[in-house]
Amino acid sequence: MNPVNDHSESSALDKTCRYDLAIIGSGPGGYVAGLYASRHKLKVCVIEKDLVGGTCLNRGCIPTKSFLYSASVLKTVRNAGLYGVDVGASTINFQKMISRKDEAVLRLRTGIETLLRANKIDLLRGEARILGTDKIEVQGSGEISAKNIIIAAGSKITEMANIKIDHTNILSSDDILNINTVPASLTIIGGGVIGCEFASLFSALGSKVTIIEFTDRLIPTQSREASRKLETILKKKGITVFVSTKAESVELSRPLKIKTGSGEIIEADKVLVSIGRSPAAGSILGQGSDKIGVEANNGAIVVDGKLRTGAKNIYAIGDCVAGPMLAHKASYDGILACDNILGKNRQVDYSTVPNCIWTDPEIASVGLTEEEAKARCPGVKIAKFPYLASGKAFLMGKTEGFVKVIGDEDGKLLGFEIFGEGACELIGEAVLAKKSGINIKDWALAVHAHPTVSEVTQEALQAFCGTPIHGL
Ligand code: FAD
Repeated sequence: MNPVNDHSESSALDKTCRYDLAIIGSGPGGYVAGLYASRHKLKVCVIEKDLVGGTCLNRGCIPTKSFLYSASVLKTVRNAGLYGVDVGASTINFQKMISRKDEAVLRLRTGIETLLRANKIDLLRGEARILGTDKIEVQGSGEISAKNIIIAAGSKITEMANIKIDHTNILSSDDILNINTVPASLTIIGGGVIGCEFASLFSALGSKVTIIEFTDRLIPTQSREASRKLETILKKKGITVFVSTKAESVELSRPLKIKTGSGEIIEADKVLVSIGRSPAAGSILGQGSDKIGVEANNGAIVVDGKLRTGAKNIYAIGDCVAGPMLAHKASYDGILACDNILGKNRQVDYSTVPNCIWTDPEIASVGLTEEEAKARCPGVKIAKFPYLASGKAFLMGKTEGFVKVIGDEDGKLLGFEIFGEGACELIGEAVLAKKSGINIKDWALAVHAHPTVSEVTQEALQAFCGTPIHGL
């Protein structure tokens, strides 16, 4: 097989091309695509205007999870007495948490740069702009040409019209990852995944946290049951939650005064605006890009089911196209786009992309939620099993939560949801089940090790089949 797309009709390309593939952006979409393409013997360059690793590594998944892991250690230490371990008083050393986070980010970034070098991928530093189907201008480095282009430009913070982020008092998710002290009080505007993760984190670190969410529930992308349960748990931790509430304005007094649409005035030392992210492809598309077939809709690059733009050799992936804004989805897109460049003719399918939320406890799901399944499919069957009945969860003192199986009468898996300890790790099994198309009745026969939290999955599957073992 010819490793590169056949562009024989544009023979001019073949004479002038230096790279088989140029990738704009080095986030989990771009750098993974680069490594995959290089392992398939394509000559690749990755162009990055900022830090290698993109949002995920520098301002997203990794720094937040480093902080959240520190918070979970703090919780374990503070609860140590429950497990028969006496420790002295615990205090937070926020400076050390910051250093640990920064070291992790630096080390992982160096790791990606080393991998790019080892795979002979040219890393070009500068802002890229597409000039033609095979031409890219890289600020500071001049023009390069490539047979194929992947746009992996990621996303940017969505700002509010009425409440401006000032980076000092009113913060973005980037800003809050760089603060030096834990605020005594924090109001978070937006109760989606990022808002709820920061709420869990700063509440654990001792901030008095308030969430203001515009829709009628937290984490609206998850099931209503998960939203309700999370709200109850966050409130138990002392977090104040307003749903169906609009944040109207912030008065820059000390403390800050946040006014809601329903008339409440909330006081806080800091405000975090986390109302979502928007695709960030705008600057890449030079004037006349529509003439080469690359178009954007509300900032998102328009692609077909193969992730190809209107130009047959230009693809777009990750946060800068429609679909879930997740690091693993961006990497999935990157590999799929490369496969299509290699002539494999793959179609995108997001039905097995897991959603993970690192609140305490964690929430993870794959496929349809209960509501979506009931609205779309006939004969939906639901089975649930509580963490409370799991021996391992019990001895860990992590009994809050459930596993929910959503299937049809024939045992076809439609969706799977885990709310509880280790959910984001445990969901991998359900992803594999959904991807493989295994029938729930067969999956229920798979032996799960004892004593593990994964037994809750097995129990939920057995409950689905009408044979719950440890259920009441
Ligand atoms: P990005 O990671 O945004 O990378 C795009 C890169 O392109 C950037 O480095 C940018 O500088 C570069 N670029 C843009 N334009 C140009 C140009 N013209 N020239 C050169 N370079 C350019 N997802 C998860 O799956 N799990 C999580 O736990 C998680 N936590 C998150 C927490 C936070 C606080 C945030 C903000 C996000 C989180 N995400 C998480 C989302 C995840 O970070 C994104 O989905 C992911 O980074 C998208 O990858 P990407 O490659 O599409 O884009």
